[in-house]
Amino acid sequence: MDMERIDGKAIASEIKNGVKEKINNEYISKGREVPTLCCIIVEGNAASEIYVASKEKACKACGMGSKIVRLPNDVSQEQLLGVIDDLNADDSISGILLQLPIPKHLDYFKTINRISPAKDVDCLTNENLGKLFAYNHKVAPCTASGIIKILQSQKVDIAGKRAVVVGRSLLVGKSVANLLEENNATVTVCHSKTTNLAEITKTADILIVAIGKPKFITADYVKEGAVVIDVGINRTDAGIIGDVDYDDVAPHTSAITPVPGGVGPLTVAMLMDNTLTLHRDRLG
Ligand code: NDP
Repeated sequence: MDMERIDGKAIASEIKNGVKEKINNEYISKGREVPTLCCIIVEGNAASEIYVASKEKACKACGMGSKIVRLPNDVSQEQLLGVIDDLNADDSISGILLQLPIPKHLDYFKTINRISPAKDVDCLTNENLGKLFAYNHKVAPCTASGIIKILQSQKVDIAGKRAVVVGRSLLVGKSVANLLEENNATVTVCHSKTTNLAEITKTADILIVAIGKPKFITADYVKEGAVVIDVGINRTDAGIIGDVDYDDVAPHTSAITPVPGGVGPLTVAMLMDNTLTLHRDRLG
């Protein structure tokens, strides 16, 4: 069977070029204020530094403004909420992204929900997640909507397909499951307490894996001809490795994303797209 290695970088590039063109046409050429993304980073996580740097680079490439607010690892809850309040009130900021994870002494839900839903660029506030689950959303979590873009760019007809999502985080698993269902797939969500996981994943026409366990999914978990999307990013001594054992699984698929170079670039591209959407929505 012909297998396609999905080029996430190329799909992401196309999306970012589209964002750049819109920013040029709608804002720069008309002398209007361009969208600006603000990333808040609580220091102490090496991977977060890499992610924030790549988001800043993408903003520049799209002609978007970028601001980074760095906070010390021992920042207090009150200080962090104060920073978010200031950014919510700052008219020059279109989107606010809190780089995750945040240290354990900070309350995730309290912090995320302090972000104004109008500036919640990763769609993680309760209000925006509610809209996502009601199919009434303007943006969706970047990784989840990036996965849908990948499937669309591969001309995968999602409607009527059986999709299995392994992982149920709000950030990835639950959100992508919801988007797949919105696109009329029949969706099953699996997690660490799922029994007979392989039996379920083997029914998937579209298999999405977001668990954070290197090479966990082998050929035994995959139906012949499935489309497999590997969200995992596992930093190991051997480099960055996905949740799917690519070499074992790929020959059995019709299309599969590699790690790196699959879903990751789409997450950044969709962040740019979401920032533009929120900017337009707020300022017209
Ligand atoms: P979380 O740790 O929040 O969630 C992991 C999920 O996987 C949980 O629902 C957990 O189940 C489930 N899980 C863990 N072990 C198993 C198992 N053995 N069998 C079945 N399910 C299991 O992770 P995230 O969703 O935030 O991220 C998942 C992966 O995706 C990570 O590697 C992360 O780095 C990567 N990621 C990549 C992005 C990208 O842009 N490419 C963006 C965001 C994340 P339970 O709920 O029962 O604990």
